[in-house]
Amino acid sequence: MKHTVLLRASQQEDILTAAQILKEGGLVGIPTETVYGLAANALDGNACAKIFAAKGRPVDNPLIVHICDIKQLYTLVRTVPQEAENLASLYWPGPLTMIFPKADCIPDEVSAGLDTVAVRFPSHPAAQAVIRESGLPLAAPSANLSGRPSPTTAQHVLHDLGGKIDAVLDGGACSVGLESTVITLACTPPRLLRPGGVTLEQLRSALENVILDPAVLNPLEAGEQAASPGMKYKHYAPKANVILLDGSREKYLSYVNAHPTNAAALCYTEDKEFLSVPTVCYGNEKDPSEQARELFDALRRLDDLGVTTVFARQPKLDGVGLAVYNRLIRAAGFEVLKL
Ligand code: AMP
Ligand code: MG
Repeated sequence: MKHTVLLRASQQEDILTAAQILKEGGLVGIPTETVYGLAANALDGNACAKIFAAKGRPVDNPLIVHICDIKQLYTLVRTVPQEAENLASLYWPGPLTMIFPKADCIPDEVSAGLDTVAVRFPSHPAAQAVIRESGLPLAAPSANLSGRPSPTTAQHVLHDLGGKIDAVLDGGACSVGLESTVITLACTPPRLLRPGGVTLEQLRSALENVILDPAVLNPLEAGEQAASPGMKYKHYAPKANVILLDGSREKYLSYVNAHPTNAAALCYTEDKEFLSVPTVCYGNEKDPSEQARELFDALRRLDDLGVTTVFARQPKLDGVGLAVYNRLIRAAGFEVLKL
C-alpha cells in the first residue's frame, strides 16, 4: 500500500507536484471536464503498465492520450485527415477523442497492440496545466477500478484507487460527467465508437457522413470483434441488478410501485415524490446534460441502499441522451423491459 497524496487543483504548487510525479513515472488522478483520469507519461510504457495494474484494466483495452496544444497531436500520429482538423477546430479543447494511425513513439501499452492511438485535448484548466507543466502527453483512462462507474469527484477516485496510486488532484466535480465521445477517423466513413458530450448530431453537422458503431446500442455477438475494445467489457455496474424500463412515466411509476420488494428506483428528480421505493435521482427528465453529470455518482450511491434490484427509466436517445443511454444500458447488462 502506498500513501495517496491529496493535491488541490487551485494551488500552483500542487499542480507542479502532480507534474513532477508524472515526470518520474508515477500515477496521478487528474480532473477533466468528462471524468477523472488516471494519468501517466504516455511515452513511458512502464509508467502506463502501472495504470493497468492499479485499475485491474484488461491489457487489450487501449488508453486515450491527452494533450494541451494541437501541435502535440502531430508528434503522436502518422497522419491527420482534414476531417480531424475540422473537428479539432470546432470541439477541441473539449470532450471529443479522435483515433489516428499511431506514430512509433506510442508504446504498445497505450495502443494495446493496435496500430492506432486515441487522442484528446481536454478543456479543464487543471488538466491542461498538469500536461503543460509536465511537458508530456498523458495517457489517462477513467480513474476507477475497471467495471465500476467512472469517477466524477476526487473522492470517487480515492474510494477506488486510494493506496494504489501516488496522488489525486482535487478539482471538484466534473462538468460533463460522462467519458468523452470517441470517433475513429482511421476508417472511411468515420465511425462513432462511444457517444459523449459532443453529440452525434454535432458530428454529423461537421462531417458529411458518420456511422454509429452497432456496439453503441447493442451487445456484441459472441466472437464479434469490438471496434473499440472497451465496449466489450462489463461496465458501470452497481452491486444490484439494474433493469431499464421502457415506457411512459405513468407506466414506469406504477410498475415500480407494484414491485417494492428489495427494489430501488434510479429516477428523474420529478419522479421521486411519486415512488414508494427508495430512490436515487439522476437529474431532470428534460435535462440530459444534468443526467450525464449525475449518473455515475447516482450509480455509486445505489450501492449504499443494499437492494437487489434497481429500476431505471429508459432515457431519450437524442443529443447527450444517447451517451446517458449507452452507459445505463451497460450498467443494466442490456436488460430492458418493455412496459
Ligand atoms: P476510458 O479512457 O477508460 O474511458 O477508455 C477509453 C476508451 O477508448 C475505451 O473504450 C477504449 O477501448 C477506447 N480506445 C482507446 N484507444 C483506442 C483505439 N486506438 N482504437 C479504438 N478504441 C480505442
Ligand atoms: Mg473507463
